[in-house]
Amino acid sequence: MFRNLQDKKYYVDNLLKELQHRGNSEAAESVRKLIFKHIIGPTRRKYNQHTLYEDFKQKILRNRKPGTIAIISFNFDFLLHEDVGDALSFDYLLDFNWIESDRRSSSNGIPLIKLNGSLDWGICRKCDHLHMYIYPMQPSFYDQKKCTNHGCEGVVEPFIVIPHEEYVGRIGVLWTKAKETLSQACKITIIGYSFPEYDKRVIRLFEESLRSNAEIAEIEVVDKSNIRNHNFAVKRRKEKEVKEKYRQMFPELINEVKVQLGGFEEYMKSYQESQ
Ligand SMILES: [Zn+2]
Repeated sequence: MFRNLQDKKYYVDNLLKELQHRGNSEAAESVRKLIFKHIIGPTRRKYNQHTLYEDFKQKILRNRKPGTIAIISFNFDFLLHEDVGDALSFDYLLDFNWIESDRRSSSNGIPLIKLNGSLDWGICRKCDHLHMYIYPMQPSFYDQKKCTNHGCEGVVEPFIVIPHEEYVGRIGVLWTKAKETLSQACKITIIGYSFPEYDKRVIRLFEESLRSNAEIAEIEVVDKSNIRNHNFAVKRRKEKEVKEKYRQMFPELINEVKVQLGGFEEYMKSYQESQ
């Protein structure tokens, strides 16, 4: 599970919600396009992240048997995506009306459940046609982007699913699938997400899902801390804090929560070593 917009999300959430309540869909569209430009610019330069995601695919995902792993993501970016060849496919679980050549969503692929939408998915404001575009994308990609539905001519905006109520018909399936996946998971690895208080819908999703498998589920938390490796006392204190937070959030959990404080990069390194 990934999230790299944690600090900004609260702001974006409220802004889009406010605009929706005022019925100002054109302003909401502009905000979504701004989010797109903001993320697309830096994303294209994040070489290190590209390498990490490639490692993640290579070491963890490509060796999995179908049905043994699923990914729930809150990220809008598309750093994680299917291979151009057939080596790795994802099931994005949505009914796309139009998919650009070289992209695909495969029902036998690994479920990649993007609960907040994705920047490479575009929705027509007029007819709700859902598009999946090819990457890389330029920051100007959505400027004047038109719907592919014949004769519609509607404007397409990035499918960022905030606030959720606006798109509930379209993305309800993702939340249902996330709940089903979490309820059946033996092991849940949480990478770079800290359940901030304002994320009530996500906390509720986990509470409800974990209630049914609290005796089985093992939780592993991969968090990024800036504590130096040799500072064992501080590290242990931080680990204890994280464990305590989980105990309070999910009191029914039986297994002890495992905590790794080295972030995604360290996690990938240790994963390689332990295989
Ligand atoms: Zn349309």
